[in-house]
Amino acid sequence: GSGDERELRAPICCILGHVDAGKTKLLDCIRGTRVQEGEAGGITQHIGATYLPVENIRERTSLKSEVTIKVPGLLVIDTPGHESFSKMRSRGVSLCDIALVVVDITRGLEKQTIESLHLLKRHNVRFIVAMNKVDRLYGWKSCPNTPILEALKNQSDDVRSEYKWRLTEVITQFKENGFNTAPYYKNKKMKRVFNIVPTSAKSDSGEGVPDLLMLLVRWVPEIMIDKLAFNNSVECTILEVNGDKDLGTTIDVVLINGALHQGDQVIVCTKQGPVTTIIRDLLTPQPMKELKAKGVYKHHKEVRAAHGVKIVAPGLQHAMAGTSLIAVKPGDDLRQAETAAMQEMILTISAADENKNRTAAEEVSRVKSCKEGLYVQASSIGTLEAIIDHLKSSNVDIPVSDWNLGPVNKQDVMKATAMLNRKEEYAAILAFDVKVMHEASVLAAESGVRIFMADTVYKLVDSYAEHINGLKE
Ligand code: GDP
Ligand code: MG
Repeated sequence: GSGDERELRAPICCILGHVDAGKTKLLDCIRGTRVQEGEAGGITQHIGATYLPVENIRERTSLKSEVTIKVPGLLVIDTPGHESFSKMRSRGVSLCDIALVVVDITRGLEKQTIESLHLLKRHNVRFIVAMNKVDRLYGWKSCPNTPILEALKNQSDDVRSEYKWRLTEVITQFKENGFNTAPYYKNKKMKRVFNIVPTSAKSDSGEGVPDLLMLLVRWVPEIMIDKLAFNNSVECTILEVNGDKDLGTTIDVVLINGALHQGDQVIVCTKQGPVTTIIRDLLTPQPMKELKAKGVYKHHKEVRAAHGVKIVAPGLQHAMAGTSLIAVKPGDDLRQAETAAMQEMILTISAADENKNRTAAEEVSRVKSCKEGLYVQASSIGTLEAIIDHLKSSNVDIPVSDWNLGPVNKQDVMKATAMLNRKEEYAAILAFDVKVMHEASVLAAESGVRIFMADTVYKLVDSYAEHINGLKE
């Protein structure tokens, strides 16, 4: 057909679900990586973007070369499942084309699964259900990386009957929450009934994973071909603002459509107004690796959508996660573009506000109005807001007076010393996923500012809470 010859971009898929359902493990299984095993406490604390080129997907699914795939790849966004990370989840959902909702077959729908479903409904995003951990069915015989129907044929009657009643249970729970679902191999009304794909993400299993990938790269483009048509006008959302020891402040973005180039003039919005800057470098992780992973980046002159990209440019310090990055085209009126950018940002913020879900920067900037409180230092805006959120909701309700991104420097300690003669217990820095520079720790020791560090947001807050409880006794 005529319309089918258009260049398509990679679909963007966001992974959601309750803690421990197997979101990260499933992504590991697809990539052939082991990110999950390396996570502190086994929990995801960052929003990550991974690009899967179509060649790797073909390999992973043992697909014959005559089967056509029209998209160049798949961009997958992994999100944390824990309570404190709800803003990261809504940022992921607001930019994806399709979602993958991971449900543990032995547990069914749980609190964050249901929260995710409501979020998807609000944003009008279609989803596929991965009914994960089928290898946990009693007596399951592993059939590595086989399509699910084939794997089920190899199981005993007992396993098959347990599978059937658990599947029915899950379908009933979806129904109770207002969603019609069916196993994809029986689903005759895929446009209205959501697909369930049984999977196992266990390293030596991987049953159903080929089925899942097929749906994502063959069926998804079929149902949203117009949405996936490559378009020259840039559509780009800021996922994270990072303090990097070597690169300074960088932003992680999801390029949804269009192309970005080194030397492009772009606008980011801040609370103080628009900032116009020039892209110095465009970095992507190696294919199949996470944008967040601290590894070797590839440098690019041009990046085409859809992709997760780290942008290096001056003046990004106050960029706000969740807002758009605007590309200025040659011949554009800069003032007009800046005004339009700010108007769009204000709309985004007020829309988020209605959902009682302010953007990260809004929430975090409210903090500064608090005169007495802790100093928090984190590697990204996303983790910063998770720490602030957890401090607020912990039974101690600890205020935060100031924060910064990137390594802890002498200046940060100086700021924290202000609390010494105001409220001594708040003369502390909670540092997450950042380096503490030598001079900073020397000054802290001299002045009496305590620096707390931990590998999870939860342990960090706990260790501070224990400390003040100790002071009270
Ligand atoms: P997330 O919180 O949703 O990202 O879940 P993780 O990917 O961190 O997985 C939580 C735990 O469940 C880990 O111990 C995994 O090894 C385990 N797990 C995940 N998927 C599977 C699966 O398909 N089968 C089995 N047996 N265990 C799994
Ligand atoms: Mg995870």
